[in-house]
Amino acid sequence: MKPTVAVIGGGVVGSLIARELTKYCLNVVLIEAREDIATGATGANSAIVHGGFDPVPGTLKAKLNVKGAAMMPSLAEDLGVSYKNNGSLVLAFSEKEMEHVRKLYARGMENGVPGLSVLNAEELQALEPNISKEAVGALLCSSAGIVCPYSLAVAAAGNAVDNGAELLLASPVTAIQKQGEKFILTCGEHTVEADYVLNCAGIRSDEVARLVGDDSFSIKPRAGEYLLLDKSEGETVSHTIFQTPNEMGKGILVTPTVHGNLLVGPTALNIEDKADTSTTREGLAFVRSTAMRSVPNLNFRAVITSFTGVRSVPNEEDFIIRFSEKDAKFLHVAGIESPGLSSAPAIAPFAVQLLAEAGLPLEKNEAFDGKRKSYHWFSSLSMEEKNAVIRENPAFGRVVCRCETVTEGEIVDAIHRAPKATTLDGLKHRLRSGMGRCQGGFCTPLLVEILARELGISPMEVQKSTLGSNLLIEKTKEVAE
Ligand SMILES: Cc1cc2nc3c(=O)[nH]c(=O)nc-3n(C[C@H](O)[C@H](O)[C@H](O)COP(=O)(O)OP(=O)(O)OC[C@H]3O[C@@H](n4cnc5c(N)ncnc54)[C@H](O)[C@@H]3O)c2cc1C
Repeated sequence: MKPTVAVIGGGVVGSLIARELTKYCLNVVLIEAREDIATGATGANSAIVHGGFDPVPGTLKAKLNVKGAAMMPSLAEDLGVSYKNNGSLVLAFSEKEMEHVRKLYARGMENGVPGLSVLNAEELQALEPNISKEAVGALLCSSAGIVCPYSLAVAAAGNAVDNGAELLLASPVTAIQKQGEKFILTCGEHTVEADYVLNCAGIRSDEVARLVGDDSFSIKPRAGEYLLLDKSEGETVSHTIFQTPNEMGKGILVTPTVHGNLLVGPTALNIEDKADTSTTREGLAFVRSTAMRSVPNLNFRAVITSFTGVRSVPNEEDFIIRFSEKDAKFLHVAGIESPGLSSAPAIAPFAVQLLAEAGLPLEKNEAFDGKRKSYHWFSSLSMEEKNAVIRENPAFGRVVCRCETVTEGEIVDAIHRAPKATTLDGLKHRLRSGMGRCQGGFCTPLLVEILARELGISPMEVQKSTLGSNLLIEKTKEVAE
């Protein structure tokens, strides 16, 4: 009998770990509380693949960040996910900040980060003409990049399913019992029996730890607010532009995204409610004014949306990747704050290796196929290729989201290919439908119609994200009557 490994949490960390586990002859179950993958921190962050000069040398953060950043380009290619090696700059506005930049350079060298150099003001201006003339120099990290974080997690979970993993969505783990050597997990309407359990529950990983009586760490929420600018502004800068970091984080950055937008943020505010993703007038005003210190000519008239991501801040300095003191087969992969996205490709094999050391037999799965086709691919074809696809399936000839060129053929595929998109946000995270300049103004009614048709439900039942987030409440004719 193959051992069963249960992974709690379908963020980028849990999804990549589930995929990594399918490289071996194991039963793998990925359990996610929400209706879709990547709805936690993975769904709302800066999307930077950090080079690795920031973490303290010798820490897990330092080791896994540098390794993960090196693994990201080929992983993203295998999974059909957008990645760009655009490089990053940490700006200094004074000689004191320049000292900090040199410290980061030395730390980066110690961490083994490739592509680091310290630039003077002229070199910086030559590289990024829109940078403030007040900047006196910068740290260049040419190995840094940007990635699409939610596509990465969705594709990783999907690839785990392609390779035999079971995915349970809308299944919050609410109880964990031990029967002999087995864990019995209660998750919604499911009960999962497992030999090993990984706690990848992000901001709720301390609560999941409590389910096995482990209160060795706690996680506090820290909000980060962002502004997203239209693609018209995407070339304002080509590198990711940081200011010198402080104790609350890496400060306000300005960065292109892999999809050609410009992202500005995040704030860093300790909050009480782990589920609070609201934005505030003050937060966004702070983002604007602070970002303009780096790039004075930012065009905030081109803002198309704002959002908040919530960091999981542990009461320990480093990532918490260790077995629970309550059970030697219960592995915490918790407190994965930044640079968690950058580190995730390396966290996955590291966690699996720890399981092996704890006795999990790793027999190679010869049938493992790590490649996966992107959900959103049609617009990258040549005209001839597009015509050939449309001849085969006319649904690809119907563009539903005009801002992001998403076809009905891709929407139908995303609704039926694991992990299946069953909500508007699910489609958005796979295809970018509704993420463009009009923010879904034109395509939403069509998306609702297609979701209803393909899922065999009424348009009234179509959800935006979680259960209860219906867009349509009553038919206008009925209201009138
Ligand atoms: C504002 C912000 C900016 C950031 N910027 C960057 C960056 O630029 N670069 C970088 O490298 N990192 C960045 N990070 C960090 C990065 O986003 C995280 O490290 C990473 O997404 C963590 O992934 P995760 O899978 O651990 O957590 P999450 O993505 O939060 O996933 C945890 C999952 O567990 C599920 N869950 C919770 N409880 C249960 C339960 N009881 N049962 C089942 N499932 C459960 C949740 O629903 C969730 O889907 C940033 C984070 C934030 C918030």
